[in-house]
Amino acid sequence: MNYKNTSDFASKLDAKDELQHYRNEFHIPLQKNGEEHIYMCGNSLGLQPKRTKEFLNQELEDWATFGVEGHFHAKNPWMPYHEFLTESYAKIVGAKPAEVVAMNTLTVNLHLMLVSFYRPTENRHKIIIEGDAFPSDIYAVESQIKHHGLTPEKSLIKLRPRVGESAIRTEDIHEIIEREGDEIALIMLGGVNYYTGQVFDFEKITKIAHNKGINVGFDLAHAAGNIKLELHKWGVDFAVWCSYKYLNSGPGSVAAAFIHEKHHQSNLLRFAGWWGHNKEDRFKMPDNFVPITTAEGWQLSNPPILSLAAIRASLSIFDEVGMEKLVSKSKKLTDYLVFLLNSIESDRIEIITPKERGCQLSIRVKNGDKVLFDSITLKGVIADWREPDVIRVAPIPLYNSFQDVFKFYTILEEEL
Ligand SMILES: *Cc1c(COP(=O)(O)O)cnc(C)c1O
Repeated sequence: MNYKNTSDFASKLDAKDELQHYRNEFHIPLQKNGEEHIYMCGNSLGLQPKRTKEFLNQELEDWATFGVEGHFHAKNPWMPYHEFLTESYAKIVGAKPAEVVAMNTLTVNLHLMLVSFYRPTENRHKIIIEGDAFPSDIYAVESQIKHHGLTPEKSLIKLRPRVGESAIRTEDIHEIIEREGDEIALIMLGGVNYYTGQVFDFEKITKIAHNKGINVGFDLAHAAGNIKLELHKWGVDFAVWCSYKYLNSGPGSVAAAFIHEKHHQSNLLRFAGWWGHNKEDRFKMPDNFVPITTAEGWQLSNPPILSLAAIRASLSIFDEVGMEKLVSKSKKLTDYLVFLLNSIESDRIEIITPKERGCQLSIRVKNGDKVLFDSITLKGVIADWREPDVIRVAPIPLYNSFQDVFKFYTILEEEL
């Protein structure tokens, strides 16, 4: 498309946008002067859907009305409440409903999956991860390695981009697998890297790894609700994601996991809790753990209903829109932002996100000069700064407009 860097042009794109009215479904934070913020931070904390309050109130009312009986008599009974999320989640990550479950928080789920899918032996004990993975993921895999009496020095391979590049090449991952594949037990990557915004080639990496007998897991914190996923088809072994970034379910809200159906009946070791036990006799309180034969078999505890209610509210929007339309708008929004940023004549900024991306762009600022970030913040932009030198921005197709993108560009250009 022939883009133009004018406010009129941005308005025209908004007028043509069939998802435009969804912006009204969200609370957009206001500045002190009463104007809306240019909110570009939905990759960190998604905005609150207006309907969330209703969903939460329903559960508060039913708790008041029914007390413990709400487990069975609430309008949406709490006993199977997590199951109300399953269909929607399956659509978002491209899974069968039996393969997904909402539970715990992200890092907790990562640990639970590592318990099942990282079973090092003397010969096969290494994990591959991105060198610039989110710190929590590094801490989790390093602590799991140590838990098995091994050391990260010997058992953790950190992927790095080539000198002068910022994204990791699939061919370089391939090369490591060819070279050291027999010693590698697991590949664990952020599906979308949180720092650069790079989307990995899930399908290809999974295929190459499986050929060598390596398990493959993805952290979808920045992928779920952002890009099109086909976890089942790709044969990914497991995945985990949180619900408060692109999935707009509120700070610290409950996370989720995907476990491919090929593992549901296998004897994978796991950490168990009563909520993962066979539903038929869970309340007979048997001593002997018999797991549910779906992803639900990895649950530990009865889940926080208020948090699940917020997720349900948000997922109802995803159900209405669908990932196709969402991704289609997302591409246009981010393409427009790339066009605008490229029209700025300044050597102080550089986009480091490769063309394999979701909606996030990572803008490297020369010399890690945070003054630029502070000054756009004063002008009403909410984005985030990631050390050492990156401003991350993510126009979110459900609530950001082409005008938002244009205003962001105008402010950034002025401050430059
Ligand atoms: C946001 C994020 C986390 C956060 O973990 P929590 O357990 O939800 O606090 C972990 N990993 C990645 C890749 C993330 O982007």
